[in-house]
Amino acid sequence: MSDSTQHKRGVHTRLAHSGYDPHDFHGFVNPPVVHASTVLFPDAHTMATRNQKYLYGTRGTPTTDALNQAMTELEGAAGTLTVPTGLAAVTVPLLAFLSSGDHLLVTDAVYFPTRSFCDNMLSRMGVKVEYYDPLIGAGISRLMKPNTKAVFTESPGSNTFEMQDIPAIANAAHAAGAIVMMDNSWATPLYFRALDFGVDVSIHAATKYIAGHSDILAGTISANEAAWERLHEAYLQLGCCPGPDDVYNTLRGLRTLGVRLEQHRRNALEIAQWLEGQPGVAQVLHPALESSAGHDIWKRDFSGSSGLFSIVLAGGGKEKAHAFLDALEIVGMGYSWGGYDSLAVHVHLDDRVASRTDYAGPVMRLQIGLEDVDDLRADIERGLAAAARI
Ligand SMILES: *Cc1c(COP(=O)(O)O)cnc(C)c1O
Repeated sequence: MSDSTQHKRGVHTRLAHSGYDPHDFHGFVNPPVVHASTVLFPDAHTMATRNQKYLYGTRGTPTTDALNQAMTELEGAAGTLTVPTGLAAVTVPLLAFLSSGDHLLVTDAVYFPTRSFCDNMLSRMGVKVEYYDPLIGAGISRLMKPNTKAVFTESPGSNTFEMQDIPAIANAAHAAGAIVMMDNSWATPLYFRALDFGVDVSIHAATKYIAGHSDILAGTISANEAAWERLHEAYLQLGCCPGPDDVYNTLRGLRTLGVRLEQHRRNALEIAQWLEGQPGVAQVLHPALESSAGHDIWKRDFSGSSGLFSIVLAGGGKEKAHAFLDALEIVGMGYSWGGYDSLAVHVHLDDRVASRTDYAGPVMRLQIGLEDVDDLRADIERGLAAAARI
């Protein structure tokens, strides 16, 4: 299929068909799950010249190719790599592009394990890590130094959902010669095509919506032409390749991402709008709500909203937060998100250094799943009623 044919196709057609041609493998509609270390060569000359498509299990298989190619088409990228976790999808590009003495700018609303990797491993390796206010926009140019090699973004921000002005940040970063990475897990490539907005490396915790069933860990990294070669080289050096069954199941999840995400979007938005009027809720942090500070940027750049947002309870502390959680019967208490099931967690924001905000009460993150909205609303109502009694 030529590029121009691909471009005319709608996103749901691409979700259903991208990445793999069934006639490449006897017509089976799904790709084979190739368990592989060794790949044989037909003769010594082919082996010496490495003149065949597959060389060794760590360097790719028909299974990884199918997922990577599908993501490449969805992201409009030069290439995609799949790694064993979303966190590895963060760490591999950071390791690929940073060296001792380099300066790295990281959004202060970053996923906590990303911060931990920067503060511990990257710092130990001599990378100077600096956190910036997620709302900084073009003002990031003031933070750029001659040794600034990368700007790490995540929008909306983890737990507090600040929207970043990605095009403005990308312009400023590129003007100063730095590469732009984005943790784009919340929107998926369906709701934000990061590379079209100036991002060089788009990162997904495929564990979340892409795999979508709370049973797979996976990450994808898609890069534009400028970043691809160096990223790919680092991936090969790190030996950070995923298991074939997880890759297969991630592609299986991707095929139905469109319909699942639409229901996450609708359910979450309906619940967020209802929560805005509820006693005991001081604030709803959801970028698709008009009341949200980042709404204009979200509307300008994103084509949808997913199922993860937070509410701020009206006053109180840990006891109120725990009363809310303990009263929930359908919504589970657990980490991660993006699966079919609803989840809630009391989030801690003590790690923030450049964007400390005083919220009126505990911040509760809600992952709205695929259940019936009425049942979820009744469940959250139980939680709010219990919190009100504290
Ligand atoms: C969960 C998450 C990750 C990491 O994904 P894992 O597969 O759990 O390692 C990365 N970024 C964000 C924003 C996440 O929420």
